Amino acid sequence: MSEFDAGFDQVDEVDEQEIAEAMATGAGGCETVGVGIPLAGGKPVTAGSHPGGHPGGHPSGMPPAGHPGGHPGERQRHGGARSMGFMPGGGPAAQAYQEAHPGVKAPRIIAWEITRSCNLGCVHCRAAAEFGHYPGELSLDQCKAVIDDIATISNPIIILTGGEPLMRPDIWEIIDYAHVKGCMPVVGTNATLITDEIAHKLAEHGIPRISVSIDFATAEEHDAFRRQPGAFDASIEGIKRAKATGVGVQINTTVTKLNAEQLPEIHDLAERLGVDAFHIFMLVPTGRGSEIEDLELPPEGYEKALTWAYERQKTSPLHFKPTDSPHYYRIIRQLAKAEGKKVTREEYGMDAMTRGCLGGITFSFISHIGDVQPCGYFDQQLGNVKEQPYSEIWTNSKVFNDLRDYSKLEGKCGACEYKGVCGGCRARALALTGDYMEEEPYCAYVPPSWTPEMAAEHAKVIEEKAEARAREIEERGTLLAGQ
Ligand code: SF4
Ligand code: SF4
Repeated sequence: MSEFDAGFDQVDEVDEQEIAEAMATGAGGCETVGVGIPLAGGKPVTAGSHPGGHPGGHPSGMPPAGHPGGHPGERQRHGGARSMGFMPGGGPAAQAYQEAHPGVKAPRIIAWEITRSCNLGCVHCRAAAEFGHYPGELSLDQCKAVIDDIATISNPIIILTGGEPLMRPDIWEIIDYAHVKGCMPVVGTNATLITDEIAHKLAEHGIPRISVSIDFATAEEHDAFRRQPGAFDASIEGIKRAKATGVGVQINTTVTKLNAEQLPEIHDLAERLGVDAFHIFMLVPTGRGSEIEDLELPPEGYEKALTWAYERQKTSPLHFKPTDSPHYYRIIRQLAKAEGKKVTREEYGMDAMTRGCLGGITFSFISHIGDVQPCGYFDQQLGNVKEQPYSEIWTNSKVFNDLRDYSKLEGKCGACEYKGVCGGCRARALALTGDYMEEEPYCAYVPPSWTPEMAAEHAKVIEEKAEARAREIEERGTLLAGQ
């Protein structure tokens, strides 16, 4: 076992809460302003215009240190759920589940697209969500049944996302029911609908944290990207209102070629706003994001942005978490080594203990119609909760079980000494090649054991898979068009 493998094993034993916190990712869901209804600040929204939402705008699931709905200022800025005694996946149901299923962990975080309807329509939205009703969404009773089933195997953080989850009128009943069943609901929202009343309701219903996407440091650029005048100001107002009631706030930023150089300014804005966390997300080109694939950073751009993150978080007062960029966990080890350090928990906190991609390992996603996936960007459904209990899908899905077995990784990821702490993005591999165990296409690292001959040989394999994948997508499109 390599030192990296050893590191991840420690994670499992030491602090699953923090893994879950780190894994507030890939759930999809946007935060955006939309079509035909006013923002909370009373600013009209131009019909047909669509500001962009953050794909995977997810709170980290950190409950406040104070009583839900309690007093602002009593929470710990960096406080994790452990300080409240809440351990996702640490309850008796999860313990019993893991004893009965050796090698399979109980889910610690479930991102749930509780509705796809959204008042925005952001450019890079994973869900390609729009305003209006989406047929087939789970009813309140169906939602409760899903929560009942989840509670039989775990007590996870449930990220209620969308779309815009606050568009769902029964969201408060869903939140309350999740609490009753021992889970911890959090909300990924665009914040544009957060009036003073909604902010108080978030606090009263025990929402410890919301996440909100801010993609640029100025209103002009943010609104242009989101194609929605007023989106930036509305989100900032929503953030302030939430904070005023004691609800924690995490700012998410999707990094593209357009804003990569602006990360320091966006971070400073987050700091000025006094939020709790700043999470940068690397674009995963699925959903509406596939239309802006050319804005995705090249592998070298990822290295640069993630290196900036490593350096900046050393002095940042914010909880800092690069997401959907599993190779960050390789980069911190490389940079630490260059500094003569070892990545230990004492020195690096949870960065030393967590792993890059946890899709299917301790994390999963449920879509607005009940499809279960490893994450919101992973374009393959593993089952549907209307037809099969979530717990069965989690336990028995071949895809989930493959993802749990790192020895099945292919290409340079399979040969990589960092696969235990990184693993590459399985959603990107799937999107490019149709094979979710293929190598991560956006990693610049070449493992020492991956010779140029092996790389050349494997490039042909990837090319064939990519061609087959392109044909499959084309056929799917033709089929859909014919329906
Ligand atoms: S080669 Fe794969 S496992 Fe290794 S660092 Fe890159 S993405 Fe991670
Ligand atoms: S597959 Fe990619 S987007 Fe999904 S959870 Fe893993 S790293 Fe994140």
